[in-house]
Amino acid sequence: MTGIDAIAGLFAGPGARDYLGEPVTIGEHMRQAGALAEAAGAPAPLVAAALLHDVGHLRNESDARHGSGGARWLARWFGAEVTEPVRLHVAAKRYLCATEPGYFALLSPESVRTLALQGGPMTPEQAAAFGALSHARDAVAVRRWDDEAKDPAITPPGFAYFAPLLAGLAGR
Ligand code: FE
Repeated sequence: MTGIDAIAGLFAGPGARDYLGEPVTIGEHMRQAGALAEAAGAPAPLVAAALLHDVGHLRNESDARHGSGGARWLARWFGAEVTEPVRLHVAAKRYLCATEPGYFALLSPESVRTLALQGGPMTPEQAAAFGALSHARDAVAVRRWDDEAKDPAITPPGFAYFAPLLAGLAGR
């Protein structure tokens, strides 16, 4: 089975139809995030990261661990420019809560609830360390699309729309 087949199977599976406390299913949410990244003109690896950022949830990882667990799984097929924003998108929420006035107010109730489970806002020292990571900027971009991709009025493209982009990146 190729990586694309494995990922397609997760998007087609029952986990993608869960709601996880948001007004859209997790599969819709992930496809909305990918579409937002593409509409913003993001490069292909960052579109893939936005599309796949919650793949850990599809694999039943916990709220606190779904970034790192998803990234580890994706590393079988994708490089760091895809896996690092996925790994860091939970930390990016904690980072933005610490560094950007007004960010917390934008979070959905479910994102506020899980923030506590994920460690709460970063300390200034943690935020400085995060900001120095080479993929911090991309992780923050994924985080903003993540926060926006919860609109029940939007019907995002299906997984098949994104498959060629993923296939072009999955070099291993
Ligand atoms: Fe998400």
